[in-house]
Amino acid sequence: MDFRNCTECGKPFRFIASGTCPACIESDENDLRVVYDYVRKNKGAGIKEASDATGVSAAKIIRFLRDRALGTIEMADHSLLRCSRCDQPIPRGNLCEDCTVELIWQINKRVDSQSLSIHSSSSSRMYTCELTKCR
Ligand SMILES: [Zn+2]
Ligand SMILES: [Zn+2]
Repeated sequence: MDFRNCTECGKPFRFIASGTCPACIESDENDLRVVYDYVRKNKGAGIKEASDATGVSAAKIIRFLRDRALGTIEMADHSLLRCSRCDQPIPRGNLCEDCTVELIWQINKRVDSQSLSIHSSSSSRMYTCELTKCR
């Protein structure tokens, strides 16, 4: 059996799919509901403000924003959350829009060059094959 320590409370638990134990997943869901309700009722509230009002730690609220668990809600001081690539403040997720676009572009480029190199290597193999046949 695969036992791990919970990334939230540190207690060992039987690993299923997540890094946190079932008890923490449940309290996470409760926390998320409380924060979500608070931010919806108090539009423009900041992360620290919401943390004080709900008792949920600011770090956890930031994690919710990273996981996009709060949907399209924007927190007033979301500048606590930064793009993991260029360090620009972002409202949610891991990357800013610029970096997202650039990453997608890079992935597309890599796929393109991969299919290109497969193509060119197979055609050059065919070419050498024909050459040896000719001899
Ligand atoms: Zn736990
Ligand atoms: Zn960025």
